Amino acid sequence: MIEPIPYTKPSITDLEIRYTSDAMTQGWGARCYDYIVRFEKSFQDHLQVPHAIATSSCTGAMTLGLAALGIQAGDEVILADTNWIATVAPVVHMGAKPIFVDIDPQTWCIDPVQVFRAITPKTKAIIATHLYGNLCNMEALLKISQEHQIPIIEDAAEAIGSVYHGRRAGSLGTFGVFSFHGTKTMTTGEGGMFVCQNPELYEKALTLSNHGRAKSQTKQFWPDMVGYKFKMSNVQAAMGCAQVERIAELIERKRQIFDYYQQALTGVPGIQMNGESPACEIGAWMPNVVFHRDLKIEFAQIEPVFKQAQIDARPFFHPLSSLDFFSKCLQNHHAYDIAPRALNLPSFHDITEAQQTRVIELIHQLVQVHNG
Ligand SMILES: *Cc1c(COP(=O)(O)O)cnc(C)c1O
Repeated sequence: MIEPIPYTKPSITDLEIRYTSDAMTQGWGARCYDYIVRFEKSFQDHLQVPHAIATSSCTGAMTLGLAALGIQAGDEVILADTNWIATVAPVVHMGAKPIFVDIDPQTWCIDPVQVFRAITPKTKAIIATHLYGNLCNMEALLKISQEHQIPIIEDAAEAIGSVYHGRRAGSLGTFGVFSFHGTKTMTTGEGGMFVCQNPELYEKALTLSNHGRAKSQTKQFWPDMVGYKFKMSNVQAAMGCAQVERIAELIERKRQIFDYYQQALTGVPGIQMNGESPACEIGAWMPNVVFHRDLKIEFAQIEPVFKQAQIDARPFFHPLSSLDFFSKCLQNHHAYDIAPRALNLPSFHDITEAQQTRVIELIHQLVQVHNG
C-alpha cells in the first residue's frame, strides 16, 4: 500500500490552535472584533498597505471592490482567459461583460499587449491575476492603466510571498484581493482580504461590506445604501493572526519545495516550470510543469498514472472562455495551447523530500517514455 500524496494541506501549529480557542472562549461581546482588527492590521503591515478589510472569501473581496469602483451593467472588464472562475464570477454578477484575453507563455499571466488591444470606451477595469504566484508584468499594466485612466485590480489570491520590484503582489494596483481558502499559502479555512491605498475607495468598500452602513453613521440600524455582507468571523481571524505571524516561514517553505522540484526538473528536456524574471520573486504557491508539445504528454492521459501512484496532481486552469456558459475565444492561443499539457504538483508545507522524489521520478519516467 503506497502512501497517498495530497495536493495541498494547511500548515497548522499550536499557535493557530491557541488563538482560535481563545477567540472561541473569550472573543464575544466587547471583544467580538478583536482578532479581526488585529488580523487586518498585521496583514497591512506584511503587505505595506494602509487599508485592509478581512472578508469571507476572495470572491467576496472582489465583489466588494468591483461594487466600490461602480462597475455595472454595460461595462467591460478585461482579464486573462486562464483564470479560476472566482475571478470572473463577480464581474458577471455586476452585470458587466468579461473580456477574455490571452496569457504570456512565460509567466502564464495576462499579456499587456492583448490588454491594450482589447480596450474600448466601455472598459472600466483590468484584472491582473498573478497565476500560481507568478507575477504579471505590472509595469506595462500600470502604464496602460494610467494612460487610459482604467483601474487595475490585482487578484493576488495565489501570490502571497510574490514580490515585484521590491513591492508585494497585491499592493500595486487600484486594489488587491487575497484568498485564505484551505489550499492557499496561508489560510483561515475560508476567507479573504481586500486591500487598497486610496482612503475613499477604502471607505466605500468598508461601507458596502457592512450592509451599506457608513462608519460615520451614528444612527443604529440605519444603512446608507444597499450593501453586502462578506465579513470574516473573529474565530477565522484568530487563525489568520497566527498564520501572518508565521508568514515568513510559510513562504520560505513554499520556496524550498519549488526550488527542490526546479533543481530536479530543469535539466529535463521539454519541461517548463513557473517563470520568474530577475527583478521579481515568486511566492511559489503552486509549482507547475508544462510539457513541450513534441512530447505529446497530455494531462488527460497521464492523470490515471498519477492516480495509480497515489499522487494528487491536478490540471492547469481551463480557459474560462471554454466553459459552457461563455463563448470560446480560440484566438487566445496560449491559454488553449498550454492548459492540456500542464500539471500542478503537490506542494503542501509538510511534504517530505521522499514524497517530492516520488513525484519527480514519475515525471522523469513519463518524459523518458515519450522521448523514446
Ligand atoms: C483561490 C482563488 C480565488 C478564490 O478565492 P476564494 O477565497 O475561494 O473566493 C480567486 N482567484 C484566484 C486566482 C484563486 O486562486
